Amino acid sequence: MGDNQEKKLSPQTNFATRLIHFGAEIDTHTGASSVPLYQASTFHHYSLDNPPEYDYTRSGNPTRQALEDYIAMLEGGTRGFAFSSGMTAISAAFMLLSAGDHVICTEDVYGGTYRLLSTIMSRMNIETTFVDMTQIEAVKAAWKPNTKAVFVETPSNPTLKITDIRELTDWAKEFGLLTMLDNTFMTPYHQRPIELGIDIVLHSATKFLGGHSDLLAGLAVVNSDSLGVRLKQIQNGLGNVLGVQDSWLLIRGMKTLQARMEFSEKSARVLAEWLDKHPAITQVFYPGLPNHPGRAIHEKQSLGYGAVVSFDTGSEENAKRVLARVKIPLVAVSLGAVESILSYPAMMSHAAMPREVRHQRGITDGLLRYSVGLEHIDDILADLAQAFEK
Ligand SMILES: *Cc1c(COP(=O)(O)O)cnc(C)c1O
Repeated sequence: MGDNQEKKLSPQTNFATRLIHFGAEIDTHTGASSVPLYQASTFHHYSLDNPPEYDYTRSGNPTRQALEDYIAMLEGGTRGFAFSSGMTAISAAFMLLSAGDHVICTEDVYGGTYRLLSTIMSRMNIETTFVDMTQIEAVKAAWKPNTKAVFVETPSNPTLKITDIRELTDWAKEFGLLTMLDNTFMTPYHQRPIELGIDIVLHSATKFLGGHSDLLAGLAVVNSDSLGVRLKQIQNGLGNVLGVQDSWLLIRGMKTLQARMEFSEKSARVLAEWLDKHPAITQVFYPGLPNHPGRAIHEKQSLGYGAVVSFDTGSEENAKRVLARVKIPLVAVSLGAVESILSYPAMMSHAAMPREVRHQRGITDGLLRYSVGLEHIDDILADLAQAFEK
């Protein structure tokens, strides 16, 4: 396998190249051009004295391992983990905590994370304070003697508020807090939180990493061997692993991550500027707009603005009319796919949030969230223009 060694790329290799040449892109046994699908639940012990590297698929599977190594490399962490969904990845990370612990969390966090923390973890006696993380002072004020972790989503969901990651991790380290970041919206192409001091990066790989609205998956990457051992114990103990076929499908999707993100982001910038000038729209949320309050901080920590644009149509009636009239986007929950997806947070992703809480967090009844796909931008704009007409 000395030849294989020679194929190792230098750490300076660009992201686009590493996406394709990630280490397991060629099967070393046969030279096959993709990671083999090891569709097996268990592995033969040829010798009881020398147990096989893999022994049972919940504990380890070579196809899933290739995916886990792939995301760890892209995020710059020490070890990756693949879960059956974004929520199982996130809930596994919270299982590192114990009863009596306290968490500080971004207030306009993904609706499912809000539900997990407020209805399930709370029953396990793990308490959460939701704060506006654009203000480090608000985070500091939420600290209690039993605070053990900080969970951040930046840009947040769906109003795309920005948290200064470095400022947050510097503070968290002083108090020995575990820091977790949901990097679903940015992906490692645009934002690599471990380089900014985050301990655990989480993904709903259902979105941009998978990229085709055809699979449900979650990924986690840790920044140390000790955290890796602890999270491995949880993944194996809970058994919430990603299946073999879905692991393979996710690897396939991730190879085109940069090509898709670059294209969609370019369109999203045009869409945000167009919406910002449109008389039917009262407010646009996109970190790439000059009037976005978090733009400078976002630019400091990310290489792009992403492909999600949220905007306020002014009322529930207006939002519903647009949803009924658009012809290009899928009207659906979810984001980050080859096709554009238009969602209505108040009735979809954030339906779990009580109305008053939702309004407090800027998730108004007229708010729509557009995840820009790979359609031609002119068609996307023309479609929205006709949908906005009164
Ligand atoms: C979709 C999503 C999740 C949950 O992921 P699933 O794969 O649906 O379980 C978590 N965080 C963010 C930001 C998401 O968009």
